[in-house]
Formats: sequence, structure tokens, C-alpha cells
Amino acid sequence: MLAVSLYKGVVFLREQPRPRRPKGFALIRLLYGGICNTDLELQRGYYGFHGTPGHEFVGEVVEADDRAWIGRRVVGEINLACGACEWCKRGLGRHCPQRRVLGIVKQPGAFRELLTLPLRNLHRVPREISTEQAVFVEPLAAACEILDQVRIPAGAPVAVLGDGKLGLLIGQVLKAHGTQVHQYGHHKDKLRIASDLGIDTRARKKTPAAAYDWVVDASGSSLGLMQAVKMTKPRGTVIMKSTVHGLVGMDSAPVIVNEITLVGSRCGRFEPALRLLRSGRVRVDELISGVLPLKQAPLAFKRAAQPGAMKVLLNA
Ligand SMILES: [Zn+2]
Ligand SMILES: [Zn+2]
Repeated sequence: MLAVSLYKGVVFLREQPRPRRPKGFALIRLLYGGICNTDLELQRGYYGFHGTPGHEFVGEVVEADDRAWIGRRVVGEINLACGACEWCKRGLGRHCPQRRVLGIVKQPGAFRELLTLPLRNLHRVPREISTEQAVFVEPLAAACEILDQVRIPAGAPVAVLGDGKLGLLIGQVLKAHGTQVHQYGHHKDKLRIASDLGIDTRARKKTPAAAYDWVVDASGSSLGLMQAVKMTKPRGTVIMKSTVHGLVGMDSAPVIVNEITLVGSRCGRFEPALRLLRSGRVRVDELISGVLPLKQAPLAFKRAAQPGAMKVLLNA
């Protein structure tokens, strides 16, 4: 079978034997994969990653212990947790210290014709969600995680800093939650997607100081956090959604003086993401900037890295 491989910054294809299916796992045929910024960072050499990348996917179950899964369209949670530790017992396998992470840490990823994942990681994709849309469940779950961590009352104004793929998902999730979203960005075409979805958009050049109780930094830049802190009212909260590599240089005084809470935020539960997609309250079709066959993965990675690119999908 065909698998995408990443080694020392180079994306290439290779033939591999079909993966062995451990007990409790499903063998899944890839339908679509989505290239995310994390994949591009792995390519730049972060985490010393080599092997098959890919953690955003939708597939069809080919083999499983329980035959009821066979032929089902599925998406999969990316953390493979031990299931026995203190974190796992609290339902927080996403923080299991033993965890492997699909396509990121010690577990070959989804950009291959066949992959395996534990059955307990899988969620069926409801009929109302198209196969292309289902690729967005994983990043959408990461956007939903904010509402699991922070209590934001409906009607409250919230600033979302950044108009990239994740920023546009976050804006929609917060709007669906009933908050008054102000999306700040640099890119006219991306902000237009947000405004077409009914979100109030603003230019990031002139962000107001001490104006919000909640600010989400999805800027993807090291300057974003400092800007987010400036926009936050005393006793307010900054939700950090951008993983920036290297050190972030920032003046910590405004955080201390204004008693601002910083909340780090990563992966989330799939259930709320599936609900939002199914109800049509979050739209993702506008975020797809291209679909390429798996065998053109090197070109797809190049396209995904181009400035202004949105989600590039791989089709198996
Ligand atoms: Zn991702
Ligand atoms: Zn565990």
C-alpha cells in the first residue's frame, strides 16, 4: 500500500506492507486526510519527527473485532492513551503521560492507504456530514476545547486574534455558543470568509487596548500573545491556541499588573465538533483550498505552506 513519508524535511511516497491490526484496533481505509500547520511544523523539523504524518482524517473501517463497525465512515481521536492511569480514569486520556499521538508522537499517521487506531478512539460520521467536511472534526474539536476550559457567558464580547484555519473555526464555535465574536486578522480574503459566515471582522492593525474579558490568540505568531494580553481587561483571560516554536519573548508585567489568566488549550472532545457540523452551525466548505490525490502529497504539502492557503486535503 501507498504511504506518505517525512524524513529530514522531505515529503515522499513509499510502498509499505499493510499494517498489522492489534486486538482492539480497527483497520481503516483512508478517504480524506487534512494537512494542518502541525504537519508543516513536523516538516520543518520540530519534535524530530520522521515517518508517516497525518492526524486529521476520515476513513472507512475495513476490519474490526466487532463486525458492526465494518463499512462505517469514521473519524478518530488522535491520542492513544493507556486507559489505566489517573488521567485516563478521569476521562483525560489526552493528557495520559504514556500516550502516543497519531502522526505526531510514536504512532504512524493517517496519510497512508490503510491505518490502524483503537476502536475506542473512533466516532461514526453521521449521514448529514459529508466526507470532506468530516476531515475538520479534529481541528474543530480543538476549537471546541475552549468552551470545556473557560466559562464564557452567552452575549459576551470575545476577541479572536487570527484569521487562519483554526481562527475561523474558533470564531464560528464561539458564535454558535452565543458570544459576540470580533475576529481580528490581516488577510482580507480570509476575513471575508468569516464575515460571510456572519462574524464581525476587524483589521488586526488597530486592536483596542484593555477592551475584552476574553481574548483567544490563534494568530500563530509569537507577537500574537503580547497583542492578546494588551487587548485584555484587568482580571480577564487569554486563551492560547497558537503553538509557537522557540521562545516567545514577551513583557510579563502587564499579565501580572492586570492579573490576567493565561489558559493553554490543545485538543478537544469530538462529540461537540460532530454536533456542530451535523447541525450546520459551523461551516467548513469555504475553508478547503484544494484536494489532491495521496500520491501527490509532496505537492499538497507545498500548496498548504503557501501564504494564504487554507485547508489542503489528500484524497486516497
Ligand atoms: Zn492538526
Ligand atoms: Zn493513561
